[in-house]
Amino acid sequence: MDLPLPLWLLKKMLPDATFTMAPQGKTVFLTFDDGPHPDTTPQILEILDRYNAKATFFCLGKQAEKYPQLVKAILYAGHATGNHSYSHPNGWLTGRKKYIDDIEKASALVPGGLFRPPYGRITPGQYLTLKNKYRIIMWTRQFADYKKGFVPSAAAGATIAPGDILVLHDSQKTAGRTLPLLDLLLKRFEIEGFICRSLNMQQPSPAHNKGSLIQ
Ligand SMILES: [Zn+2]
Repeated sequence: MDLPLPLWLLKKMLPDATFTMAPQGKTVFLTFDDGPHPDTTPQILEILDRYNAKATFFCLGKQAEKYPQLVKAILYAGHATGNHSYSHPNGWLTGRKKYIDDIEKASALVPGGLFRPPYGRITPGQYLTLKNKYRIIMWTRQFADYKKGFVPSAAAGATIAPGDILVLHDSQKTAGRTLPLLDLLLKRFEIEGFICRSLNMQQPSPAHNKGSLIQ
């Protein structure tokens, strides 16, 4: 589960990471962390397919190892995958070598050159090593679907702008909140004319590197 840090702090700490995409048309970028999972991934894929939406799944290596057919199903449906580490370590509490090894272990199981640090917690040393190999993808908005009191109908009305990168979770623990949220968001995007694309389809915004406090 990902506990959010303030975006202004993350942008300062990770100046070359991607927090938003260049808004070419009315595009948004849904991302799902912590999967794949046999209970939730097929349901997420089914909902995305219903709305002809593409997304990016930041998979855990340990889950991809258990369920390689789900990683294949994600890619076969035209979505992208990204590395979310093997075992979801907290970078602040993990030595650099151990942390990098964990990411490398996942890279053999999860295709794609994208990496999202678990909890958004990564030290400057870990970041400097990984940014040469991966495009580090953070987020514009993280939905708190991991929190028990989370109300999907309220969250689905959040301010969303073209180019936004949105975080939801692909996890059994959050499914009761994530799946209704996803359905509501996609319904809304359809009405408002937003197109959901995967992150390998577009370049990051040039403005994302400037550490801007504006979301
Ligand atoms: Zn995570």
